Amino acid sequence: MRANVAAMGDRRTQAAALLALQHAFGVDEVVAETPQNRYAEPAEEAPPPAPGRAAPAAPAAPPAQARRRTAAADGDVALMSQDAAMASAAERAGACADLEQLAAAMADFEGSSLKRTATNLVFGDGNPRAPTMWIGEAPGADEDRLGKPFVGVSGQLLDLMLAAIGLDREHAYISNILPWRPPGNRKPTTAETAIFLPFLQRHIELVAPDILVLVGGTAAAALLRRPEGITRLRGRWLATTAGGREIAVMPIYHPAYLLRKPAAKREAWRDLLAIKERLRTLEAGATA
Ligand code: URA
Repeated sequence: MRANVAAMGDRRTQAAALLALQHAFGVDEVVAETPQNRYAEPAEEAPPPAPGRAAPAAPAAPPAQARRRTAAADGDVALMSQDAAMASAAERAGACADLEQLAAAMADFEGSSLKRTATNLVFGDGNPRAPTMWIGEAPGADEDRLGKPFVGVSGQLLDLMLAAIGLDREHAYISNILPWRPPGNRKPTTAETAIFLPFLQRHIELVAPDILVLVGGTAAAALLRRPEGITRLRGRWLATTAGGREIAVMPIYHPAYLLRKPAAKREAWRDLLAIKERLRTLEAGATA
């Protein structure tokens, strides 16, 4: 009896360790009710139905979402090439006349495997008529579940950062470089970023903010294409053009970085004050 209990304890410890390893490797979703041994020999083919008896009904097709995930897990999804995906994204994005069309085009787009492992498209949140647009990296688990950017722990800090300069989601617009969550919250690859860039550029053109805040190194690298990292770029007023308009750009530290490195909050505060001052000047100019 004691030996059985000890063996059971061992199995539990082992199972917990395996689960922890899978989690550390980025496995964070269950794709089927029961485990499947993909190394096992293929099952023998079922014998043909006996004459005079109806063939058994084919198993019901799984729901769309499950089908997508199983296919992705098996790696049997034929995706287009990087060049074809980028060209298709540019063509689709360019054809969108408003944000609604853009969100629909992004939801339909099949040029990235990220869509197959994510749950919801994370398009944007806040007020698209606000003067500031804040661009983060990519959705995490909470954003994927709710279909909104920055609603997890980083989002709570971003909300506090906005509030510190008198903004909230009624007075700011928020989106990301990627609209789909990378599995296991890994960093987006440069190929993924390049595929979604035409959508983001159209997004910026349609929102047409006065100030674009690039939240973190990934957003700064994707949109500015400069050799410096975020530590050098943050706090500097830069510029980009969208739809033939010049837009002021301020790169800042990502809230996730600030949570890990609280000492950097001092610099982040300085950057927020610079944004607040620029907004004040813009408003003063508009009412003059
Ligand atoms: N981090 C991001 O960059 N974006 C989100 O939406 C959430 C976390």
